[in-house]
Amino acid sequence: MSEPATQPAERVHFGACNLCEAICGLEFKVRGNEILQIKGDAADPLSRGHICPKAVALKDIYEDPDRLRKPMQRIGDQWQEIEWDAAFDWVATKLAEAHLRDPDSVAAYLGNPSVHNYGVMTTSGQMLSPIRTRNRYSATSVDQLPHQLMAYWMYGHQLLVPISDIDRTQYFLVLGANPMASNGSLMTVPDFRHRLKALHARGGKMVVIDPRRSETAEVADAHHFIRPGTDAAFLLGLLKVMLDENLLKPGRLAGFTDGLDEALDAIRPFELAVLAAHCGIAAEHIQTIARDFAAADGAACYGRMGVSVQAYGSLSQWLIQLINIATGNLDREGGMLFTEPALDLIQGAAASKPGSFGKIRTRVRGLPEFGGELPVVALAEEIETPGAGQVRALVTIAGNPVLSTPNGRKLDAALASLDFMVSVDIYLNETTRHAHVILPPTCALEHEHYDLIFHHFAVHNTARLSAPLFDKAEGTMHDWEIFQAVGKRLAEKLGQPARPMPRPQQIVDMGLQASPRKLSVKTLQSHPHGMDLGALKPTLPERLVHASKRINAAPEAIFAELARFAATLNEAAPTSQQLKLIGRRHVRSNNSWMHNSHRLVKGNARHQLLMHPDDVASRGLADGSTVRVRSRVGEIRVEVQASAEMMPGVVSLPHGWGHNRTGTRLGIAEAHPGASNNDLTDELFLDVLSGNAALNGVPVEVLAA
Ligand code: SF4
Repeated sequence: MSEPATQPAERVHFGACNLCEAICGLEFKVRGNEILQIKGDAADPLSRGHICPKAVALKDIYEDPDRLRKPMQRIGDQWQEIEWDAAFDWVATKLAEAHLRDPDSVAAYLGNPSVHNYGVMTTSGQMLSPIRTRNRYSATSVDQLPHQLMAYWMYGHQLLVPISDIDRTQYFLVLGANPMASNGSLMTVPDFRHRLKALHARGGKMVVIDPRRSETAEVADAHHFIRPGTDAAFLLGLLKVMLDENLLKPGRLAGFTDGLDEALDAIRPFELAVLAAHCGIAAEHIQTIARDFAAADGAACYGRMGVSVQAYGSLSQWLIQLINIATGNLDREGGMLFTEPALDLIQGAAASKPGSFGKIRTRVRGLPEFGGELPVVALAEEIETPGAGQVRALVTIAGNPVLSTPNGRKLDAALASLDFMVSVDIYLNETTRHAHVILPPTCALEHEHYDLIFHHFAVHNTARLSAPLFDKAEGTMHDWEIFQAVGKRLAEKLGQPARPMPRPQQIVDMGLQASPRKLSVKTLQSHPHGMDLGALKPTLPERLVHASKRINAAPEAIFAELARFAATLNEAAPTSQQLKLIGRRHVRSNNSWMHNSHRLVKGNARHQLLMHPDDVASRGLADGSTVRVRSRVGEIRVEVQASAEMMPGVVSLPHGWGHNRTGTRLGIAEAHPGASNNDLTDELFLDVLSGNAALNGVPVEVLAA
């Protein structure tokens, strides 16, 4: 008689979610290789048991039959699996050939998931360094470049971004952010809903400024519509009221801040009535917000994606800093504070480069680099425009810029013209379909993780190292193993000396030990739920990275930008047929790459064009009908949904959709394609100062299909 088959025992595993910035602690119940349950880890000192619907999609990604596990080579429009060594040899040969013709002919693009993945953060340079190209791009320049530029200019380091002290503030002013859906961005704030309840329970207030009555606006004490792209006018209005009514009190900050008077003097000539008319928020509302903000016992002004991805995004981020400084709310409890993470990339021996600006410029349009990267709005033209330095080969890592960067169709066509492209990616998506080789790394549950970046932006100081839930499958490779294998071969072919190639864990361990808190991988391993490193606290002026240990409230370039913005206040109003396009975020979606999870796309479609009912009616459109949306760069067809949550004159389409291109392998996403809002956004429309894409405020027309 044969023995009855024994089932593997159930086990419980703790780890952090790395899908978004919130770094929620998770508790997995597993049997063998089967995930039985995913729930929030109640003992995590940052997320305290919070979880969002995306976390359970980690199971879908792990099990996804469309996820690539072996290298793929494209021959014509056919794909075939190849062995790792053959793939590495071919990639290294092609990149070396391109490099020898012209190092700048090789470009690299890192997508958003890269920053959530410690393998990419610590070791992608081991593959990219031998290339020595100036053509480096990433998702940074379609997202938060204005934040980093202001942090670098004002505080001395691109990661020294002040964080809202949400757990103690009495007045939370939110512009262009939707933390109810996102759980924070450049403000890691898992469980925003309960933190907001606590804010209300202690008598605090939240005011939201947004062209859409978002999920966050819905639970705010007050919400004001604002015309897309005019946040600078609203912020100038606040400062103007505070100046006129003598409400500014920088307090101890005045002792180590340069240029504050100069900055405020430049704002004094603006007229509140003109600013109010420009942004669409009545002067009396601006006055009330300014007075309440200045009077609060701890106030935080926070502007995120909607502010950064607009023309004058950098100017707006500067004004936000100025409001927090001039009211004495920077570096105080209940205001804006700086974090002190366990692995500190800002100060100490583990510090990264503080930043750089304009050291080089793009070849075709002359856009400035920041931190060694060029703005991605220039990538397509750098591929298409002949001449020395023309991009002819491309490396993409965890990115889908065809769907996530402006004028995706132009980039799509440009990618098809490349001599060689290699993608390190788990999916055959709208971008990687152009690759000649795809090198797929293991997925998040198969490798260790420490979040190198988002602990710098968290509302509470914590640290957490996540052990892998599963061993990697036979014949698969981690991203760092891929980077090392290609990097080693590339250096050999180029005759470059062999470099040490430490593993991610070694690099993290060195970084932890070299940081002021002197922790280590071993210490973190003994705290599977993470370590509580305490509430944020005032750290200035010591934490400033400028050698002077002083805040620079008046970066030189900002004054020309302010003058340029002032000139727009006299521009003619747009025609009544012209609408402004904005994006939006949904809790069940994360950029372009999670639409192949059946759990996340099930239910009602969420990628319609939202439009105010009056705008729908005045165009003779029917709610639920298919419409044409047209911008300078293209036209899409999409279902329109009449919604009073929209400001009249504004339409909203979430980004990351548009899974209707041929040649991808995303069965579920292809069945829920939506339309790409980046087929409407414009690579020529940008925040001129930083080079960041302006994805909000794009002029569009909406017509019957
Ligand atoms: S909010 Fe959701 S996706 Fe983000 S880290 Fe938490 S569980 Fe993961």
